[in-house]
Amino acid sequence: MPIQFEKRKEIVARWEKKKKQNPQLRCKHPNIEKEYYFGSPTGDYLCIKCGEAFMKEEKDQLELHRKK
Ligand SMILES: [Zn+2]
Repeated sequence: MPIQFEKRKEIVARWEKKKKQNPQLRCKHPNIEKEYYFGSPTGDYLCIKCGEAFMKEEKDQLELHRKK
């Protein structure tokens, strides 16, 4: 499911709140989705859990590490 550009703020805010309650919390970025802006892909990818943005190369790296 693609993430809309505006949705990122919500995700980040939710994650920051969680982190305040638990500073040890780390996101392993389990779900990275393509970011969309008014229906067009921005070329970036977002972690739907923490809202961190990745470039395609970074996303590929993450997925590579996960398979090990
Ligand atoms: Zn994440």
